[in-house]
Amino acid sequence: MTLMQITALSGGVGGARFVRGLLGTLAETPATEGASVTVVGNTGDDITLFGLRVCPDLDSLLYTLGGGVDEAQGWGRDGDTREVMTELAALGVQPQWFGLGDRDLGTHVARSLWLGQGATLSEVTDRLARRWGLPDRGVRLLPVTDAPIETHVVVDDGGGGERAIHFQEWWVRHGAELTAHRFNVAGLSGATPAPGVLEAIRGADVVVLPPSNPVVSIGIILGVPGVRDALRGTRAPVVGVSPLIGGRPVRGHADACLAPLGVEVSAAGVAGLYADFLDGWLVDDADGAATYPPGVRVGTTDLLMRDERGARRIAAELLALAGRLR
Ligand code: GDP
Ligand code: CA
Repeated sequence: MTLMQITALSGGVGGARFVRGLLGTLAETPATEGASVTVVGNTGDDITLFGLRVCPDLDSLLYTLGGGVDEAQGWGRDGDTREVMTELAALGVQPQWFGLGDRDLGTHVARSLWLGQGATLSEVTDRLARRWGLPDRGVRLLPVTDAPIETHVVVDDGGGGERAIHFQEWWVRHGAELTAHRFNVAGLSGATPAPGVLEAIRGADVVVLPPSNPVVSIGIILGVPGVRDALRGTRAPVVGVSPLIGGRPVRGHADACLAPLGVEVSAAGVAGLYADFLDGWLVDDADGAATYPPGVRVGTTDLLMRDERGARRIAAELLALAGRLR
């Protein structure tokens, strides 16, 4: 199969590790050597801290695909220090629960400066992507939308009522331990896809869903008006990798995100969220016997990305599944 254009919809760490594996697979396979990958990144996790605009998922993608990520964490810069945060703590500046390294802060300062000068998030992301050499690797990184959207989590307020907190406060500060009643995404219904997003879905040879959080990563991307219709309408096969193995997230708290939706915490439950456009679904060997939505071709393999090599293998299997569907 000759693949020229692959489009991936991605969250942060899980998505970035998978896309890095995908690039590796494309480069080591002669038939796909010149392929280009457009990554549409989630921006619902974005937050303004200390007056700086932070885009955690886009940054994980930039650093991972650009070779500058802290491998152990999966996010943030390699070899980073925390001098600025330490000084802010000494000054009594809050919040302290969101870790920002010094080199990482350089990204947020530049982004905030450029946004303040009137650049769109797409333009800013493109400048950052050049810094990380992504175009040379055949990668185009697009935020799903240029509109500032933010995921908020509705939780109990402790007095019998409800309150909404920023997704990052729920996820990072509280470790997703406060029961989520629902997710509200500020700005989503009025948002439009960023330039190139719909074209990348419609014009792709294959659309891939990495093993990203189905609710707060992929779910947000799907919620930007027009994206879901483009996925339903594209002639390209849409294939995905389950982020759940044996009914559990590999890392993170996807289970706590699926609960308020009433969706079964399983590879099949996640496939059900995508059933209206999904053509192929790669699940772990442990999940092969489950019942999947009709019309979805299921492939099985070992889905744990132990290292980059493992991510390459999984990406190759996903492309093979797509090839059987084309
Ligand atoms: P985030 O934005 O940093 O939370 O990252 P994503 O949304 O892109 O990815 C998070 C999802 O990746 C979680 O639901 C994990 O279960 C999943 N994930 C992480 N590592 C692996 C892995 O090795 N294999 C599979 N199948 N899923 C993984
Ligand atoms: Ca994220």
